[in-house]
Amino acid sequence: MKSIRHLISLAGALLAATTPLSAESPPIALVVHGGSGVLSADRMTPELRVAYYESLDEALLAGHTVLTRGGSSVDAIVAAITILEDSPLFNAGRGAAFTRTGTNELDASIMRGQDLEAGGVSAVKYVKNPILAARVVMEDTPHVLVTADGALELAIREELELRPPSYFWTERRWNSLQERIKRNIEYGGRLTSALDPATGRLDSEYYGTVGAVALDQAGNIAAGTSTGGRTMKMPGRVGDSPIIGAATYANNATAGISTTGLGEVHMVICSAHTVSALMEMKGLDVQAALDEVICKRLVDAGGGGGAIAIDGNGDVAMSYSDDGMYRGFVQNDGARHIFIYDEQEVAPE
Ligand code: ASP
Repeated sequence: MKSIRHLISLAGALLAATTPLSAESPPIALVVHGGSGVLSADRMTPELRVAYYESLDEALLAGHTVLTRGGSSVDAIVAAITILEDSPLFNAGRGAAFTRTGTNELDASIMRGQDLEAGGVSAVKYVKNPILAARVVMEDTPHVLVTADGALELAIREELELRPPSYFWTERRWNSLQERIKRNIEYGGRLTSALDPATGRLDSEYYGTVGAVALDQAGNIAAGTSTGGRTMKMPGRVGDSPIIGAATYANNATAGISTTGLGEVHMVICSAHTVSALMEMKGLDVQAALDEVICKRLVDAGGGGGAIAIDGNGDVAMSYSDDGMYRGFVQNDGARHIFIYDEQEVAPE
């Protein structure tokens, strides 16, 4: 039943045109990311740039349409994240990274800020949209995290769409795995492990993730994150993305947060919850709290990556310590702003 409702809300989002809300309307906002560890500027072709732009734009449009029609922040982030999961460009759903044995194991989580309800799935195979499975865990089970075969069983029970391994195979992620195996580059938990030993530069194929945070007209915040994890991970490895407090957190009293980057480090510093705690206990605004966690604590702990957030006023924050982060946001006026590198707005050629 739940899956049918999700599909209806997604279809509605995609069919409707987005419209700005009037100045008297309550604040709404949606911010999305498609992962840090972006392609270095010299490897970014005009075609790829447009493809990234279009996917992020489609995700923003779908989520914003839900919000302008009075839909919930949970529906809005699910609309946005499923679009990014369906794109082979991003390391989530269809474009997932490979484990060292050549399989795809997916992690996702979701949380809503009005009641701190949350759900996640980890190391799940075959599920086309892991964020929908995370939502099922949140809404239809007493659990917060369901893993591997149990998550797959839940997805089957809820009639979520499944796909064979070939659906998740992309040449780019496969080549990244083969390259690492051939050159004997070990998986490691810290940023140095994501650097190409030959160049010392971040290997952008090595990680990535998608996420979204929204504030709806009722004042409710929701956040979600979905990933294929990191190339070369051990089968069964679980990263930060399905962990509430590490990659995903939402509290109406503070903010919603979704992270990307070195999962092992986000986990030990509890990145997403720390952003919320800094706002609650130290009175930091959302951008300052995000910068403190992403540009300082994450880096000091040997990590790298980025995050997005929205507070209860609809203020949007984005922060990253890598070369860039695929990202974009939209607020009441309906204007969709998309970025890849440092503060330079991306527009189609
Ligand atoms: N955080 C993800 C993980 O470690 C990867 C990423 O966001 O790039 O699984």
